[in-house]
Amino acid sequence: MSLNTEVQTLLAQLGVTPEAGPLPTRTPISGESLGSIAEHTAAEAEAAIQSAHRAFRDWRNVPAPLRGELVRLLGEELRANKAALGRLVSIEVGKVVSEGLGEVQEMIDICDFAVGLSRQLYGYTIASERPSHRMMETWHPIGVIGVISAFNFPVAVWSWNTALALVCGNAVVWKPSEKASLSALAAHALLERALKRFADAGHHAPDGLSSLLIGGRALGEALVDSPKVALVSATGSTRMGREVGPKVAARFGRSLLELGGNNTAIVTPSADLDLTLRGVAFAAMGTAGQRCTTLRRLFLHDSIYDAFLPRLKSAYSSVKVGNPLETGVLIGPLIDDGALVGMEKALDDARAAGGTVHGGAAVTGLGGAYAHPALVEMPAQVGPVVHETFAPILYVMRYKDFDDVLEKHNEVPQGLSSSIFTNDLREAEAFLSARGSDCGIANVNIGPSGAEIGGAFGGEKETGGGRESGSDAWKAYMRRATNTINYGTTLPLAQGVSFDI
Ligand code: NAD
Repeated sequence: MSLNTEVQTLLAQLGVTPEAGPLPTRTPISGESLGSIAEHTAAEAEAAIQSAHRAFRDWRNVPAPLRGELVRLLGEELRANKAALGRLVSIEVGKVVSEGLGEVQEMIDICDFAVGLSRQLYGYTIASERPSHRMMETWHPIGVIGVISAFNFPVAVWSWNTALALVCGNAVVWKPSEKASLSALAAHALLERALKRFADAGHHAPDGLSSLLIGGRALGEALVDSPKVALVSATGSTRMGREVGPKVAARFGRSLLELGGNNTAIVTPSADLDLTLRGVAFAAMGTAGQRCTTLRRLFLHDSIYDAFLPRLKSAYSSVKVGNPLETGVLIGPLIDDGALVGMEKALDDARAAGGTVHGGAAVTGLGGAYAHPALVEMPAQVGPVVHETFAPILYVMRYKDFDDVLEKHNEVPQGLSSSIFTNDLREAEAFLSARGSDCGIANVNIGPSGAEIGGAFGGEKETGGGRESGSDAWKAYMRRATNTINYGTTLPLAQGVSFDI
């Protein structure tokens, strides 16, 4: 069966019949077309935003635990369709099978989290300085959430945002990556099924509560520019965030930016090298280096450099590159030819900056843009090392002094994820301390990649500063009101101010 035929079967199974149109879809596995589908127009985008705004005005009045019931149903749909959706993701963006399934599992996990959260949208009660007064915080829905997502997590990022946004009482308009439209159509169809079951059970979910805009960046710009979109949650490159952030700020909207990373592992003299090898291999080569949290900079202590590097090289040369749907393959294709060109350019730049490249050759004959993962020994943190190249390139650098490597670690403009491999408690704690990693994610004895949904996810500096998913990330999707209640019979003013009339 051709991949296109398989995709059409999966889409039918998931209840999606894409309308024909001008937007090409393809699989990076073989490069073959998966058909051309209809795009939304600017007028349709505007209509979706208006309709979402009307829906929000209703939905905010639905009790949060009942809103959670809708998300519970979405979780059920995802559970029932995990295999089909996971497979579609694997085919459309080239992930190995377990990673496609893992992406859907992450969606299920966030639904479970959001259902619990729907009964825990807590505010503080605060001691008042005035007698017979009480202060408290209440959290309210904020409006329409515009979600812009990247190709590499084509559906999970939407679910992180949507599950939280819905229980928080908001409506959602989603502009997925134009490189992953079919997965988006399928994921959204599952939410539509959940909405129908919710309505069939006698609950009210307003029309327009969630919509999907298929097409290019102009549709993302419609979300960015609309004053009706209270929060723009945008995941993608730092270039995109640089455009989106200031525009949303100029209209005093809120943005939640999840942008590029340049993630690290520091391997210290006391590290367990067997465990480190596995941690580094997955974090650097998994998803063909196309995760925002992919390990890109590896600092090896001088004392273990010569023992560890050959082991890593051997892991790099033995890992199987190829069709990600085949058993045993760990590295699938890059998303497109442009990504391969970017990888080759970064390797040339690394050589020009004094680097020694191992691996990294293109693999031809498979139809897609495939490459062996590259290990690059660098004399210093220069040239391409300070940029994110969205490909499986790991820059390896030597260090001698722990304080010095902490400085180097934080020198780059990105601040997403980081890790240290050590059995030295002092080093581990220092890495996690105020003088340690400046990233949003800092790990000990696991690589920087592969976060769980329970924690807040996001990073600092050019990564954008946003936090999504677990912990108290839900607060980004709500507005906070501080309330002061006087249950006495006098009116004392704060700070002892008197105003007697
Ligand atoms: P991209 O920036 O090319 O596109 C991301 C999305 O933004 C797409 O939907 C695109 O249509 C839209 N877009 C682009 N320019 C826009 C604009 N000016 N206004 C509005 N929308 C616009 O990114 P990509 O190639 O799809 O994804 C790879 C990048 O995403 C990498 O840099 C990766 O690190 C980053 N990423 C970050 C995270 C994170 O959580 N920090 C997660 C996944 C991916």
